[in-house]
Amino acid sequence: MALRPTILNPLFTAADTLSGIGTRIAKLLEKLTGNRLIDLIWHLPNGVIDRRFAPKVGDAPAGRVCTLTVEVLAHSPPPNRASRLPYKVTCGDDTGRITLTFFHAQKDYLNQVLPVGETRVISGKIEVYDGQRQMAHPDHIVTEGQKEAIQRVEPIYPLTAGLSPKTLVKGIAGALDKLPDLPEWLDEAQIKRDTWPGWKDALLSAHHPDSLLDLDLSSPIRHRLAYDELLSNQLALAMVRMKAKRLSGRSIKGTGGLRSKVLAALPFELTGAQNRTLGEIDQDLADHTRMLRLLQGDVGSGKTVVALMTMLSAVETGGQAALMVPTELLAQQHLATLKPLCEACGVSIAFLSGRIKGKARDAILEEVRNGQTSILVGTHALFQKDVAFHDLMVAVVDEQHRFGVHQRLELANKGRGVDMLVMTATPIPRTLTLTAYGDMDVSRLDEKPPGRKPIDTRLVNLERLVETISAVQRAIKSGSKVYWVCPLVEESETSDLAAAEDRHRHLSQIIGENAVTLVHGRMKGPEKDAAMAAFADKESPNGPKVLVATTVIEVGVDVPEATVMIVEHAERFGLAQLHQLRGRIGRGDKASTCLLLYHAPLTETATARLNILRDTEDGFVIAEEDLKLRGGGEVLGTRQSGLPEFRLADLSVHADLLIMARDDTKLILDRDPDLKSDRGEALRTLLYLFEQDAAIQTLRSG
Ligand code: ADP
Ligand code: MG
Repeated sequence: MALRPTILNPLFTAADTLSGIGTRIAKLLEKLTGNRLIDLIWHLPNGVIDRRFAPKVGDAPAGRVCTLTVEVLAHSPPPNRASRLPYKVTCGDDTGRITLTFFHAQKDYLNQVLPVGETRVISGKIEVYDGQRQMAHPDHIVTEGQKEAIQRVEPIYPLTAGLSPKTLVKGIAGALDKLPDLPEWLDEAQIKRDTWPGWKDALLSAHHPDSLLDLDLSSPIRHRLAYDELLSNQLALAMVRMKAKRLSGRSIKGTGGLRSKVLAALPFELTGAQNRTLGEIDQDLADHTRMLRLLQGDVGSGKTVVALMTMLSAVETGGQAALMVPTELLAQQHLATLKPLCEACGVSIAFLSGRIKGKARDAILEEVRNGQTSILVGTHALFQKDVAFHDLMVAVVDEQHRFGVHQRLELANKGRGVDMLVMTATPIPRTLTLTAYGDMDVSRLDEKPPGRKPIDTRLVNLERLVETISAVQRAIKSGSKVYWVCPLVEESETSDLAAAEDRHRHLSQIIGENAVTLVHGRMKGPEKDAAMAAFADKESPNGPKVLVATTVIEVGVDVPEATVMIVEHAERFGLAQLHQLRGRIGRGDKASTCLLLYHAPLTETATARLNILRDTEDGFVIAEEDLKLRGGGEVLGTRQSGLPEFRLADLSVHADLLIMARDDTKLILDRDPDLKSDRGEALRTLLYLFEQDAAIQTLRSG
């Protein structure tokens, strides 16, 4: 990020450069929001305490936060150190008295901040105890001269254990002091119309709210800030896409000869959705611009065949195609599916992964280079430098969120005007699609291949664990395999692992040492693949029947004999994640069961969410409902979905702003594609501010 405008540099320095913030606090900040000034600045309050109410002591009502100016009258320490009674300090004014109470008090400290005979300003909630006014542990105790500083509306921030509000507020204030004046990147007319403040004013107001109204996500302040973030997102995506499209594409018009051979070899007909999608793809291919299309379809909706047909068009036109997938095992499964079909139509297909080395690798690379290989399937190995194609025309990227934008582009750069199809099994609501892909063309496989048995999904109280394990044993006896997914603990990967290890041990004791295997995120790739492969293996009768896992199985593997999915603490997962996990079963011809074990009591929302899952298997319905139910603060199941996480915008409230940002982006790039105008320059600053690296790269490489 060498080109970051210097005016932004102070915001990107570490928080521990602020006075009052040392290493310990910096660590806590890191956990809470991030440890740079910019992270503190994005950390907005979610509540307020109004301390402006400053009555006389005699008028101070119970239950309300008051700021009182009082004389300190007397200290009465508890009778002895061991006493559970509080330390009391009596204060008052000409209208009445109030007792300040302190538990575990330090006498010296209290004498220092509340010296008898002096006037002090205190702020906190008034309580009545035994008919007397009290204030337990006032939030503030200051001298009269400092009254201004506390008699105001105080923001309340989300905290983390060990971090005091005072320290955080001080840190944020320090960061806000460094806010630079930045050029306006929004359209002046728009700002006027919506009465939005400027960026800096908006931030200052967001951190110094006058009332709860200012915290409302629909306030002009929050709209402005959310819009900035969404605009940076849309602009970044559009720029990356524009760069890809600028390189002109090629018109690919397949003869259909190879496709028809494959169709004849397939034991099924294509579904309506597959045919419709192929129609959309064929138009893109025939066009002279490059294709950049997202294919969304639930697990099992038949994306692989669509990918193959797309690649065959390239081969029919005399070119090559590549299919890139995120893991070795998945790549091998794709190869196993595609190979017989390629043989049926006489197309040569090869496989490449990081584990193929030396002479074997050289031989594969040579055939790809000289065009003998028509279709190359593989992992990240495909976009490595020494991989060269004779004439790459079409690239397909499966489970594309596991790859960076750049990895995708690098693969595309291995050909001339390469048409790209990216596929995902994560169903995403339309608004969210926009944030993840911008205005990309989207096809949806919204119809399942016929003959699939519905999955019986049930919610089960975790207290019924013993019965659940018996059910698992019965399933194994009847020849089934079982996935057992362990709870996701947000705070720590270590505790994720501990939970999975415990369950593995427990199930091994009951079901048998060899029958249970464990896969988790800390395992190295080959180790993980080996464990998965053992579970997937049809041939070995003594192989593992139960796979205990953290969510690493999410993107993955086809095990038709797996008919049972158990998810522990289902209430902790995102709906999209649960849906994906469930998609691992129901792939064979036997009926499948998914048990969502929950920890009672469930909140109303949690119940509603899990019920959606019980009631439908349609990923798109699930995704839309999830977005609707998701309150602002609720944990999104985005960690695995590759969706951007916004810090200021909340799409359950700001979806309209997203559409505005998309339209604004179009106008901006139509008029000023290289961001060279004054507003363009300001927009560059916006991109840096929100760390839109991929877009910035396109600016730099021109
Ligand atoms: P995805 O990659 O979308 O999860 P796959 O492409 O692996 O799904 O397809 C899942 C299964 O459905 C495969 O066994 C595939 O052969 C089968 N299949 C695909 N299309 C059809 C169809 N039109 N009719 C019947 N079965 C199909
Ligand atoms: Mg697939």
